[in-house]
Amino acid sequence: MKNLITKLRQEHYLDAEEYKALLLCRDADALKYLQEQAREVALGQFGNRVFIRGLIEISNRCRNNCYYCGIRKENQDVVRYELTQEDILDCCREGYTLGFRTFVLQGGETPATKDAWTVETISSIRQEFPDCAITLSLGEKSREAYERFFQAGANRYLLRHETHNEEHYRHLHPAGMSIKQRLQCLTWLKEIGYQTGTGIMVGSPGQSIGHLVEDILFIEQFHPEMIGIGPFIPHHDTPFATALPGSIEMTLKLLSIFRLMHPEVLLPSTTALATLSPDGRERGILAGANVVMPNLSPRDQREKYTLYDNKASLGAEAAEGLQQLEEKLAAIGYRISKERGDYSYVQC
Ligand code: SAM
Repeated sequence: MKNLITKLRQEHYLDAEEYKALLLCRDADALKYLQEQAREVALGQFGNRVFIRGLIEISNRCRNNCYYCGIRKENQDVVRYELTQEDILDCCREGYTLGFRTFVLQGGETPATKDAWTVETISSIRQEFPDCAITLSLGEKSREAYERFFQAGANRYLLRHETHNEEHYRHLHPAGMSIKQRLQCLTWLKEIGYQTGTGIMVGSPGQSIGHLVEDILFIEQFHPEMIGIGPFIPHHDTPFATALPGSIEMTLKLLSIFRLMHPEVLLPSTTALATLSPDGRERGILAGANVVMPNLSPRDQREKYTLYDNKASLGAEAAEGLQQLEEKLAAIGYRISKERGDYSYVQC
C-alpha cells in the first residue's frame, strides 16, 4: 500500500483500481503514512499557515429539496431568514477588523429575480473591501448570472457536485435536479475565470466505494482550485433523518488523497468534520487540509442555518473565536494566515 501512496505523491495520479484499494485500506501503518505524506506536501506548499475564510450565511431560503439538507424547501420547521445588504456589510466589517481577507457568501438557492440584488451586494463589498477575495456558494445559476457576479467583483465559487454518479445523484436529489446541470455550472464557472471549488459529502446515503472512485476521477480531471469535502451528518427534519453520519476516517483519507493528487489545491478542514469530533478540524489539517472557514454570520441567525443536526458555529468555529482557533492550531504546530490565500499561492 505504501508503494501506491508514494506513487500518488510522485505522479499525482492512480488508476481506478488503485484508488479503490486505497479507499478500502484499513492498515493503520499505511494510513499513518498516507497522512504523513499529505501533511509533508501541504507543509512544502503552504508552510505551517492555515488560511481563514469568513463564512457569511446570507439566507436559509432555498428553492431546492435536496433530501439530505436541513434548509430544504419542504422543511416547514425552519425559521427562514435573509440578511440585508447592510447586515452582510456589517459582517464583512467585523471580519475585516478580525483579520479576514476572504468573505464567503453562502446561502440556499434563490430564483433569478434575486440576481440583481446579489450583484449589488457583491459590488458594495468589492467597493468597500478592494483587497479582499469574495467567494460565492449560492448554488446553480445561469451562465449570465455567474458572469454578472464575476464582473461585480466575485473571485471564487464553491459548488460541490455532491456525487458524480447519476443514479446516486438521483438518490440524493428530487426530480428536476441533475448532475448534468451541476457539471454544466461547474464548467461555466471555470470558463468565466472563477477559482472554482467542488466536492462531496463523505458517507452520504447510498454512497459506495465505487461512487467515491468516480468522484476522485472526476475531481482529478476537473482540477478545481478548491475541494470541499466533509462528512454527511443527518438532519432530523429530512428524509435521511435516520441515516448514519459519514466516517471521519474516510473523510481524512480523502483529504490526504486530494492533497497528494493536487498539491496546490485549497482544501478546507470543514465545519462538518469539527461537528462530528471535537478535534476534527485539527485532524483535517494534519491530514493535509490548509483552510478553515469560521462563521461570521450574525450570532442571532446562526442556529437557523442548520444544514445538519448540532452544526458547530461557536468557539473555534466562530469568527469571534479566532483566538481559540489560533491556540488549537498552535497546539498542532500551525498558525493562522491572514493573507487572502488565493489559489497558486507560491511560497516565498
Ligand atoms: N445552495 C448552495 C449549493 O447548493 O451549493 C450552497 C448551500 S448548500 C447548503 C452547501 C453544502 O452543504 C452542500 O453542497 C452540501 O454538500 C452541504 N450539506 C447540506 N446538507 C448536509 C448534511 N446533512 N451533511 C453535511 N453536509 C451537508
